[in-house]
Amino acid sequence: MMNTFSNTLQLPHGQLSLPAFLPDATLGVVRNVDSADLERCGIEAVVMNTFHLMQRPGSSTITALGGLHRMSGWPHPIITDSGGFQAYSLIRQNARFGFMNDKGITFQPEGSDRKFHLTPEKSIQLQLSYGADIVVCLDDCTHVDDSFATQQESVNRTIDWARRCKDEFQRLMQQKRLPPERWPLLFGVIQGGGYHELRKQCAEALLEIGFDGFGFGGWPLDNKGQLLTDIIAYTRELVPPQLPMHALGIGHPANVLECAGMGYGIFDSAMPTRDARHSRLYVLTAHDAVPEPGSTEKWFSYLYVNDDKAIKNNGPISPYCDCLCCSRYSVAYLHHLFKIGDSLFLRLATIHNLRFMTQLMDRLRAQSYE
Ligand SMILES: [Zn+2]
Repeated sequence: MMNTFSNTLQLPHGQLSLPAFLPDATLGVVRNVDSADLERCGIEAVVMNTFHLMQRPGSSTITALGGLHRMSGWPHPIITDSGGFQAYSLIRQNARFGFMNDKGITFQPEGSDRKFHLTPEKSIQLQLSYGADIVVCLDDCTHVDDSFATQQESVNRTIDWARRCKDEFQRLMQQKRLPPERWPLLFGVIQGGGYHELRKQCAEALLEIGFDGFGFGGWPLDNKGQLLTDIIAYTRELVPPQLPMHALGIGHPANVLECAGMGYGIFDSAMPTRDARHSRLYVLTAHDAVPEPGSTEKWFSYLYVNDDKAIKNNGPISPYCDCLCCSRYSVAYLHHLFKIGDSLFLRLATIHNLRFMTQLMDRLRAQSYE
């Protein structure tokens, strides 16, 4: 029996069955597909990105359009991330794009004619004005290779910012006078890089402040692209099992399986949709189950639609998939669409990989009840 975290979160815009995979609708859209496509794939929630949305279309436009749900025609739950990870990545890429101090983050992306400020309070204000179902605290992100001193500073700042986020969240929610069951959830993010003692320090302080769930913060892969299994598992154990944990940015099917086995319940990544656009499609090789995490059993493979082997392949991508693409179109036709550069390829391929991810989640949920 797997240790999968299985539960249902009740959110203002509906329920989210865990474990769940959420595609990244970074700029308010999962590229190439519409909301009805997502519903048909079994997607229950998406992740949208405060860092990008505050730039385009901009916060006043989103508010004028009635929030993210109305703007994007998506009536189901939305997690907004705080913007911390993207701002960190931008500044790490080149320090002239911005800086971070105890007050918050200031950044000016290349090509932008204005400076943006993100403080813990501002991040919460924006996410609530967007209508998010799960709001994430602004954190100070690091890379696992950063020094102990840098990780300690990040943990101190992350705890301080989490406290400020919680205060701002409660202040704004009390102003709205909504009954607590209609409040969005507030998640804290646990930092500390690869240091067990720092992860523990961060988790204990955040648990004391009190949050509805937690994210694993920091880049989850090492320099070779391998999952940081040990510290990810350790961090999950620091949080009581009944509180959901989000494995931020983890979306490779093998990594999702592994982290679900550790008790993570929420996953988001641009990988499945990006792979689809690059003609890398996921195929389940086992009909009705996924193996226990850590098993060497091969349970999925890649099918490259751009490959010559696809030219006369008259079958579907997967006989076990019930998506629009597999129930109607052959691999050969997809290959043709890819070669002529028709946008229908992007839509069908994206739908298929998303359905693969929701089928994986269905199986994990079913196995956790066995
Ligand atoms: Zn399919």
